Amino acid sequence: MICRSQLIRMLIQILALIPTFYVLYRLIIGTFQIVHAWCPYSVICFGIYNFTFRSAIAVAMNLAILAGMIIAFTTIFWGRKFCGYLCPLGTYLEALFQLRSRKYRCRKRVPYYIERKLAGIKYLVLALNVAFVINGISYIYMSFCPVVAFPSLLRLTTGAIAILALITIGGLLTERMWCRWLCPFAALMNIFQFLGGLFKIKRHKVIRNLESCVECGICMQYCPMNINLQEYEVVENPDCIHCMMCAAKCPKPGTFTTKKHRSDD
Ligand code: SF4
Ligand code: SF4
Ligand code: SF4
Repeated sequence: MICRSQLIRMLIQILALIPTFYVLYRLIIGTFQIVHAWCPYSVICFGIYNFTFRSAIAVAMNLAILAGMIIAFTTIFWGRKFCGYLCPLGTYLEALFQLRSRKYRCRKRVPYYIERKLAGIKYLVLALNVAFVINGISYIYMSFCPVVAFPSLLRLTTGAIAILALITIGGLLTERMWCRWLCPFAALMNIFQFLGGLFKIKRHKVIRNLESCVECGICMQYCPMNINLQEYEVVENPDCIHCMMCAAKCPKPGTFTTKKHRSDD
């Protein structure tokens, strides 16, 4: 039985999908022509480097870039709620993994020491992107970008087929694989959170009450970002997407809360 907080989250995720489906539809039928004019993740592929107001498409793209910058900036205060509630790609991957049996979902977790290493790949993807942008060869990443691949469903290229297969098969094998290991936008958001921490800015974080916790480990079986919750009283891990699945599954109600927290509090 789905709890109230998860029901609300699901409704928000569905509402957030509506504009995505609209843009996707217009892109597929060809009345919208450039995916980057609508994609906030284009902050990665173009960024401030290309922040100009030369034409209508450039303005729209700049607004998309601006939206991406705002989303990344707000993680300083709110953490990655965008990923848990609004990102259409994250919602797709979350829904995909629900197709697996409950037994598989709970038991097939990647060991934490491997998780930590794999989670570092996304920073490499971001760094590569920055290098591509600076050298004017962003098209290399775009050939493999899932946001570009989805609207290309009717005219799939090799890169689009490869990335759609990777995120779909990977997403079926392990929850939110793209989000945990590869998403360059996640890496950017984590860098903003890190900078916020350097400036001692308080950020919303998930708190685990150690007094009511009975160390059953159920929360860890359900965390979509495979965070080792046993390590934390305050979940400092920047990959936490504030989905509160841990709270929903914990047999001790009220053990998980959220509050604004500074790292040295
Ligand atoms: S990690 Fe990337 S793809 Fe996943 S929910 Fe966040 S922004 Fe979306
Ligand atoms: S599910 Fe709740 S009680 Fe069990 S380990 Fe996690 S926080 Fe503790
Ligand atoms: S720690 Fe809790 S809120 Fe954070 S991603 Fe995991 S389940 Fe979601």
